[in-house]
This record gives sequence, C-alpha cells and structure tokens, in this order.
Amino acid sequence: MGRAFVYVILGGGVAAGYAALEFTKRGISRGELCIISEESVPPYERPALSKGFLLPEAPARLPSFHTCVGANEERLTAKWYKEHGVELVLGTRVKSVDVRRKTLLTGSGETISYKILIIATGARALKLEEFGVKGSDSENVCYLRDLADANRLVNLMESSSGGNAIVIGGGYIGMECAASLVISRMNVTMVFPEEHCMARLFTPKIATFYEEFYKSKGVKFVKGTILSSFDIDSDGKVTAVNLRDGSSLPADMVVVGIGIRPNTSLFEGQLTLEKGGIKVNGNMQSSNSSVYAVGDVATFPVKVFGESRRLEHVDSARKSARHAVTAIMERHQVDEFDYLPFFYSRVFTLSWQFYGDNVGDVVHFGDFSGGTFGAYWVKKGQLVGSFLEGGTKEEYEAIAKATKLKPEVEDLAELERQGLRFAVTV
Ligand code: FAD
Ligand code: NDP
Repeated sequence: MGRAFVYVILGGGVAAGYAALEFTKRGISRGELCIISEESVPPYERPALSKGFLLPEAPARLPSFHTCVGANEERLTAKWYKEHGVELVLGTRVKSVDVRRKTLLTGSGETISYKILIIATGARALKLEEFGVKGSDSENVCYLRDLADANRLVNLMESSSGGNAIVIGGGYIGMECAASLVISRMNVTMVFPEEHCMARLFTPKIATFYEEFYKSKGVKFVKGTILSSFDIDSDGKVTAVNLRDGSSLPADMVVVGIGIRPNTSLFEGQLTLEKGGIKVNGNMQSSNSSVYAVGDVATFPVKVFGESRRLEHVDSARKSARHAVTAIMERHQVDEFDYLPFFYSRVFTLSWQFYGDNVGDVVHFGDFSGGTFGAYWVKKGQLVGSFLEGGTKEEYEAIAKATKLKPEVEDLAELERQGLRFAVTV
C-alpha cells in the first residue's frame, strides 16, 4: 500500500513551485497535494543557477532563490510547504506512471496514487555522447541544469582559477556561463557551430553587438565548427578540446550547453506527444483528462501564433503552472491560456527582453554602439516580435504590449525611423 493524494505534481522545479502557491491561494486541504521531485531541495528559481549562483562575490545561495521570489511572491521554503500541509517527496525519482490506474511508482518502490496529476518534469541537458563525442563523465566537464551541476561548476571554477575554460554551445547556457567565467577571471573560449551566437533568436546584427561586447571582456570565439574529441589524461581530466576544423584548444575546464530534451519518456505510449512535448489544450490538460502538463515539457496552443508550441523559458513555466491549477480548481470555467512568449537574459551590465515570435522581416532600431537598441519582426504586415536591449521598465512594458496587440505595419522604413517610439505610442 502506498500513499494517496488528490493532486500530485510530478517534478519539483519552477512550474511545481508556482503551481503549489496557486493551489494554496485557491484553498486546498492539508494533505491533498504532494510534489515528487528527484532533486533534494524544494522548488527553486532555476535561472539563478547561471547568474547570481556563479558570481565570485556574494553569490546567491538557497534559501534565497526558492520559488516564487522570481515573481516577487512568497518564498516557498521547506517550512512553507509544511505549514501549508503540502507533502514534499524529495530525492525521489518516479520510475513509471500508469495513467489508466492513476498511479506512480517511485525508485524506492512506493506506489503513489492521484486523482489529478500535473506533469512538471522539465527537461534534461543534451549530452555530447548524443552527438558521438565521448568524455562527459570527465571530472572537469560540466553541464548546467540543476543545483548539483551548479555546485560542480562552482567547484571547478575555483579549482581551475585563472585557467582555460572552454564553453561548448552558443545558446543561453553558453552565453550566460561564459560571462560568469570571465567575471571569475578565467580565460574563456566559446565554441559553437553557427556563424553567430544565439542563432535561434538573435539576428546577425544583434549577435555582433554581444560578441563584440564579450570580446571586450576577454572572451574568444571559435565559430562554425564543433568539438570532435577530448584529450583526456591518466587522471580522467580533459586537457584539450579537439575541433572538427583540426585545431585544438588547451582546457582546464569545459562547460557544455548544447540544448535540452523534455522529460516525456514516462508518458510515451500513454499520452499524445507533439513537437517533442506532451500535447495539452488551452487549459494545459493532456489527452488523458486527469493529467495536465506545464512548463518545459508541455506543448500548448499559443494563441498569438495560432499554433501549438513548446517553450523552454521560466515565464512560460510560471504562468502555465498557474493556469493549469486555476483551470483545475475552477473546473475549467476559465478562459483558455493566452500567453505572449517572453524570453530574457542578463549578463555583465547588459539586459535584454524579447516578446512574441522572431519570424518575418526584421527592422533594427536604436544605438548599437552600446546604448538602447532593438528590433521588430513584421510578418504579413503585422508586428509579431520585439527585442530590446538596455530598456527601462516602461519601455519593456511598451514592447510587450505592442507585440501582444499585433499592430499593422505598412512601411518598414517608417517603423525603423520611429524605433522604440512606435511601441511606446501604439
Ligand atoms: P524544471 O525547472 O527543469 O523542473 C523539472 C523538475 O522535474 C526537476 O526538479 C527534476 O528533477 C524533476 N523531475 C524530472 N523527471 C523526474 C522524475 N522522473 N521523477 C522525479 N522528478 C523528476 N529561462 C528564462 O526564461 N530565463 C532565464 O534566465 C533562464 N535561466 C536558466 C538558467 C539555467 C541554468 C537553466 C537550466 C534554465 C534557465 N531557464 C531560464 C529556463 C527555465 O529555468 C526553465 O524553462 C524552467 O525551469 C522550466 O520549469 P519546469 O518546472 O518545467 O522544469
Ligand atoms: P540552446 O538551445 O539555447 O543552445 C544550444 C546551443 O548549442 C546552440 O547554439 C546549438 O546550435 C549548439 N549546439 C548544438 N549541438 C552542438 C554540438 N554538438 N556542439 C556544439 N554546439 C552545439 O540550449 P542551452 O543548452 O544553451 O540552454 C538549455 C536550456 O536552458 C534551454 O531551454 C534554455 O532556454 C534554458 N536557459 C535559458 C536561459 C534564459 O532564458 N536566459 C538561460 C540559461 C538557460 P544549434 O542552434 O545549431 O542547434
């Protein structure tokens, strides 16, 4: 016999924390809700791991960044869960789920049953082995997804202080870790296959600004090639990174950020999957009416795009979790989730925000020499995406609002001339 709950959240990351807060705000009884997480700590704001956590001075440490501080809400420590009668089953991996029987089986052999299940299993970092390169288990190679990874990265930074750090991948992890490493006085080289960093979001013009800024801080770029192998010494440490273009870079530590895969495997063959995630409707409900999915693992209808997408960002995790709980507690007497995609990053003294979709024609505006600048994306005569670096709170709010409204744009040259004023006056 195992335990039984009305609501079970599978996964204890960002979405789980925000869902728990929403459940308690809406009024659940003690012992009705359980969170099962492989991690050994209650849900926390994962974005801190590649930012404040890596600072050389006064680094962020738990409990300061438990959810839901990222949205200026209550801080949900272990004590909070206890006080609110929410059962935390930590350090526990769920091995299998039977959605027909409404049960989960944990690694320790316990069966936990639910009436409603919220899947919040997030994603895992892609490993180099999946691209045919061996060496991920070397003691000075690290990934960054959870607290254990972040602790490992900090220890490596300390033990290789002043040495050569190679960052593999030019996406979010690569960019944020490279900044933190160089702030910690490492010699940093970024290696990635594309012609410019953040290739899935940035235009070449935007990317050039950030790359030049990073270079001014000492970061080197090796672009258009990928890692082919590591040189590993008899102690199991990587000493050099060999690239497909034939060159080799000496390494004291390696950080890998080459993308993620959503954790859907427990549900393959049981729930409908789409675009790599668990397909849900506008109330985050899956193909099984007792099962919801939120955060990185959910593929949900994004109304502004008129299609379903899976998003890998914290704002989407927070809001999709809250929406699912609202829909559950209000018995679906709610409007469907109407989400405007929002991505952001902060590195060095820089800070950017992006709203919407980066498709169609691009119009750049502003001061690309280090002031406030940005870009609009226009598709079929409508504004569909906006990017802004160095804006004020009001300016970010303005581009968000303008993007949500999807105003008509007749003249791209005029849009360029108006720049930020266009969004502010929409
Ligand atoms: P997660 O937060 O990944 O949580 C998933 C949880 O499920 C984990 O606790 C995991 O252990 C658990 N789990 C999975 N499988 C099982 C199982 N079988 N049994 C038990 N438990 C399980 N986004 C931004 O928008 N801005 C940022 O600045 C930003 N920075 C980031 C920095 C880093 C280092 C990382 C890794 C991500 C960052 N993101 C950022 C992305 C953001 O953190 C994710 O989109 C968000 O965490 C997704 O929330 P989630 O709850 O869906 O998944
Ligand atoms: P990204 O998808 O952002 O970037 C992965 C990068 O690695 C891309 O440049 C990709 O190129 C490149 N790449 C892929 N395969 C290889 C390879 N074999 N060798 C070298 N480079 C390769 O993923 P990250 O790992 O950077 O981030 C992981 C997750 O964390 C994402 O969900 C992200 O949203 C999240 N995150 C978000 C942050 C934020 O929003 N500020 C901050 C930190 C993390 P290609 O495009 O060609 O595949």
